[in-house]
Amino acid sequence: MTESKLILDGARVAQAIKDELAGKVQGLTKRGITPCLVTILVGDDPASATYVRMKGNACKRLGIESRRVELDRETTTEQLLAAIRELNADPSVHGILLQHPVPHHIDERAAFEAIDLAKDVDGVTTLGFAQNAFGMAAYPSCTPAAIVAILDYYRIPIEGKHAVVVGRSPILGKPVSLMLLNRNATVTICHSKTQQLDRIVGAGDLVVAAVGKPKFIPGSWIKEGAVVLDAGYNPGNIGDVDYEACLERAGAITPVPAGVGPVTIAMLLKHTVDAAEKRTSSFES
Ligand code: NAP
Repeated sequence: MTESKLILDGARVAQAIKDELAGKVQGLTKRGITPCLVTILVGDDPASATYVRMKGNACKRLGIESRRVELDRETTTEQLLAAIRELNADPSVHGILLQHPVPHHIDERAAFEAIDLAKDVDGVTTLGFAQNAFGMAAYPSCTPAAIVAILDYYRIPIEGKHAVVVGRSPILGKPVSLMLLNRNATVTICHSKTQQLDRIVGAGDLVVAAVGKPKFIPGSWIKEGAVVLDAGYNPGNIGDVDYEACLERAGAITPVPAGVGPVTIAMLLKHTVDAAEKRTSSFES
């Protein structure tokens, strides 16, 4: 590894976000408001249970209330919608996060859509997505927001750069593409039907990997000096890029773990605190 390589340290970025949030949480607490995030977990997927636990612990460390709604895997769409509606109506709840994926028999899209926009702290509703696309004030999905936050923390320019996003899921590939577009990058979005992916990735100044396949992007695809942002998180703590090989050519790269993951959680906390502040100021004005 040469001196000019920059490892984009997600733990450091996350800490900076949390340090800034701590004062806001204190300010709210003094006014008698405790920001509250509710995570909903349907079923018993062990990875999902771990993510929910990590999010809850991160909330507690910052003084944010974390509530968990755990529903068994036989839960119907209607039952899930009813649980979400109850949380929408609860004024002490500021953010709602439905852990993805839910069991197959549930209409996940209907469940996401049931979340009140004001509490949609992970940008999963179509209205939240659309507002994000227009650069308006909804809370974007946390992982895309984390990717942009990492670039901003390290003052890596976005404007005018060619960003290649591999993956087009509604929670990751598409929203991060729109966020980079809104920051004046020229964006190419790739997916499973994309041809000559190696050449397209090779043209990227910024490469976002959001595929869900371990070590999918080899080092040979990366342009010398490119910035590689690996959102992938596969079993065994393995990202979507071949880290060691990409490090050889990249100018900057996020590791897995300790890259995009911790910043994603920090963004969730930030959105929850922002939602609590927004609700409070709307009451007070
Ligand atoms: P997803 O919904 O499965 O989407 C994967 C995307 O990759 C799809 O758009 C798919 O294309 C594309 N793809 C699959 N095979 C491909 C190929 N051979 N060539 C090009 N594109 C291909 O996954 P996701 O939810 O976006 O998650 C992606 C990764 O990010 C996973 O590793 C996940 O664990 C991780 N993730 C991390 C965080 C975090 O906090 N760090 C949060 C969320 C997700 P099609 O659309 O054509 O099928």
